[in-house]
Amino acid sequence: MCIAPLLLALSATTQAPFTVGPLTVRPGEARSGFLEVPAARDSGTRIPITVVRGRDPGPVLALVAGTHGSEIAPVLALHRVRRELDPARLRGTVILVHVANMPSFLGRTIYYSPIDGKNLNRVYPGAADGTVSQRIAFAITRDVIARADYLVDMHAGDANESLRPYTYWSKLGLDPRVDSLSREMALAWGNEYIVVDTNRPRDPAASVYTQNTAQTRGKPSITTEIGYLGIPAEDMIAKNVESAFRLLRALGMWPGPVERVARPIWLERTEVLRSPGAGVWTPRVERGQQVAAGTVIGVLTDFFGDQPTEIRAPFAGIVLYIVATPAMNAGEPVAMIGQ
Ligand SMILES: [Zn+2]
Repeated sequence: MCIAPLLLALSATTQAPFTVGPLTVRPGEARSGFLEVPAARDSGTRIPITVVRGRDPGPVLALVAGTHGSEIAPVLALHRVRRELDPARLRGTVILVHVANMPSFLGRTIYYSPIDGKNLNRVYPGAADGTVSQRIAFAITRDVIARADYLVDMHAGDANESLRPYTYWSKLGLDPRVDSLSREMALAWGNEYIVVDTNRPRDPAASVYTQNTAQTRGKPSITTEIGYLGIPAEDMIAKNVESAFRLLRALGMWPGPVERVARPIWLERTEVLRSPGAGVWTPRVERGQQVAAGTVIGVLTDFFGDQPTEIRAPFAGIVLYIVATPAMNAGEPVAMIGQ
């Protein structure tokens, strides 16, 4: 005799409520609201979240969009995921962070917060008494990452970055199980190009990145990149939605066949090329283009259009992203190449 259905039926009614910030969600319910980040040494903000709780128990998956406020395709994608995630079909719980970095989203900034000038994806796990980016990181660490079993930090090309889709798999080396499950998540997500990152910090108290905060806390996680130039391109929105449901199926949280990337392209060597100075940037390659060692990636001139400096590919590979807008500061990325 099979007792599984009886156990599931019991657990659906006896599961304790699941609370994230101000939201208390029972099995079979979905709720949206805000994590408040109160004003302190600088302005406060709020983080729009949705918690969808399946009728049946299962893992908790956090999907985070808008860590960089102008990386838009994932933000729009989570609206669709929210509409399509029927609690009656879901097993487990999904926490959607719709816009992690509201100051940057509303301020239309790239990389940095308009309030404190910090990059949210460099200040984790945050600080309760820090500036607003640090307090956002602190709230997400405490209310989202601590509650999740799995996490995806969903990025895209920022408003200046023409990007082709890829995923970061962090091979951290702290826990083989977590590394291996993170690898499976990368294969489930669906991007063929997967950057193998072995350089992320291993100290949970100085985890720096959203994804790495989860991983150093024993939670399998990936960072994904789908979308470009800060625009809501329909195919990029749809690809983010498709990836989210591919992962839900792989985690056993959503009905349907499990798909893995059939022929992943592991990028063991990557380099972010940086600008030698401030000036006016003209790209010479497209996102996704294969380049040879020495190919001119783009040209930096001074503010009069003179003194051209060519930036060349250091090795043969694929252009994962290329900065496609002219403003350029010293030391900022101009492109990322992977091999
Ligand atoms: Zn980003």
